[in-house]
Amino acid sequence: MSCPICEHKENIIFEDNTILAYAAEKPAAAGHIIVTTKQHYPIIEKIPDELFGNVFNIANTLSTTVFEKLGAQGTNIIIQNGVAAGQHLPHTIVHIIPRRENDGLQLQWQPQQLSEDDMSTAELQLQEATKNIGVVTKEKKEVIDVKEPEEVKDNYQTKHLRRIP
Ligand SMILES: [Zn+2]
Repeated sequence: MSCPICEHKENIIFEDNTILAYAAEKPAAAGHIIVTTKQHYPIIEKIPDELFGNVFNIANTLSTTVFEKLGAQGTNIIIQNGVAAGQHLPHTIVHIIPRRENDGLQLQWQPQQLSEDDMSTAELQLQEATKNIGVVTKEKKEVIDVKEPEEVKDNYQTKHLRRIP
């Protein structure tokens, strides 16, 4: 299979055994970096957790470097996960885009006017589907049993509060 990310060899900024970072060929700004896995993974769901953790550790370190060495005032760290999200390469990549105030880059979106019902339904579905996250990896089960109900309630209320204009 031919994949432009797997075959990428130029403008390398950092690499180790599993991770590659290079200067973007079509940069949104000077210092725009692509961080990716050397192994081919089409979407982030396919990347093993530990490796994905390493990818983000490296991305965070590079982002810090962009602040310190390029004088960036902010960074956008972006994954376009899936075609509908704008992914046009068959291999998961993380963008690190240096930002400055009033740099003219347009990465904002207009909030949609959703009904309270639509928003609540989505929230409840997500809460229901994610309530056991961590059960498999954490061995001390009682921690989850004790903390979960309050956290879910808090998050729900916080989100409602933030919505008030
Ligand atoms: Zn690839």
